[in-house]
Amino acid sequence: MKEVFQIIRDPRFQLLYGVRQRFSVGPEPRRVRLNREGCTLVEGVVKKSMVYPYMLLATHPSPVRGNVFAPIFGVVTEINERSIFLDAAEPGEDVRALAAGVEKQDLLSAPQRGAELAMLLKTLGVNTRSLGQDCEKLIINGLNPDPGVTWAEPMLLTHQETLRAGLEMLRRLSPAREIVLAAPKELRLRLNDVQVVHVAAHYPASIDALVVKAVTGEENPADVGIVGLHNVWSLGRVVRTGYPLVETVLTIGSRDHSGNYIVREGSLLGDLLHFAHIDLKPGDTLVRGGPLRGESLDRLDRSVTRGTTGVFVVEAGTIPPMKGHSPCINCGACVLVCPARLSPGMLSRNAEFALHPRNREEHIDSCLECGLCGYVCIARRPVLQYIRLSKNKLRKTLREPFAATQGDA
Ligand code: SF4
Ligand code: SF4
Repeated sequence: MKEVFQIIRDPRFQLLYGVRQRFSVGPEPRRVRLNREGCTLVEGVVKKSMVYPYMLLATHPSPVRGNVFAPIFGVVTEINERSIFLDAAEPGEDVRALAAGVEKQDLLSAPQRGAELAMLLKTLGVNTRSLGQDCEKLIINGLNPDPGVTWAEPMLLTHQETLRAGLEMLRRLSPAREIVLAAPKELRLRLNDVQVVHVAAHYPASIDALVVKAVTGEENPADVGIVGLHNVWSLGRVVRTGYPLVETVLTIGSRDHSGNYIVREGSLLGDLLHFAHIDLKPGDTLVRGGPLRGESLDRLDRSVTRGTTGVFVVEAGTIPPMKGHSPCINCGACVLVCPARLSPGMLSRNAEFALHPRNREEHIDSCLECGLCGYVCIARRPVLQYIRLSKNKLRKTLREPFAATQGDA
């Protein structure tokens, strides 16, 4: 493990940034695109119907997946299998009256605990899968997830009331006997509500499995769960507002600008960049998520989902572009940085030639998806993308054994 920290000296991998200010409020969206995959539309939610903030639009059948709510006054302009599109529109008196009638929830007085509370939170738009993990010890990952993402520090320092409310809910939700917060060791944090364990703040130390190892001293210990700080903040946000979750916190950044914003769910990436005064020029790469692990997109009309940690523009020439068909030269650089002690070159070659079952034997499931292999690859191979492709193929093989075996042959 030490090798990784010795080799990756790039200061951009530091995960503490000295950011202290509260988050700015993001733009008032003119259009939103909400993810509705797997959800059932509520009766009456059809094209051209009017919507208002916190109006329930769709429900998810899973007890741990949050329902979908409108974040703005607007009109439904399009619905497809994956998305609901809303355009902002001035409401009439009748719609304003409906919005005024949305009931505020007093969650701190609610008697529910455990699965019952999770069900209530789901009806308020919260994803609770990681919050109610069956474990003895639950770790809150308080590090910035990726280099360039900077919201964890101000969240820990200046949003403590929201985090306290989130912690209170987490204690009612989780069966864990002990909840601890993993925070950067350089951060002077005063938070009496939870035991704080200080860990290194140098990427990839923020990856969940490495945080667990840093806190417990063990790899994959039994009865230990981990949850992101972002989830705790979201819980606290719902408690403090009393309304469904329709916002998220993310970093919007480029080489010259970076800021943390509370933005409405479904906000379009193009609108966010415009709001942050960031131009996307020809040759630049638009990334949703962290710059190292996020997905590059070619359309500004894609949107922010609940789990989005950031939106970044990587300027042309900053990092040499990936080349999909560049052959692996077997230099071994990726092996040296892999914190999971895998052979990323081999995994990527197997994926490239559709030899996915071999990757199972190469323990592809141990890949932490940190992205370091692709970062150091001098052949500029999209190593992480190959690995994700192979993981997806293998997952599908498990679900559809007959069809997938044919495809892999
Ligand atoms: S993405 Fe996976 S294979 Fe690549 S360095 Fe990280 S853990 Fe290793
Ligand atoms: S760093 Fe790139 S070229 Fe070198 S072994 Fe890994 S995948 Fe192959």
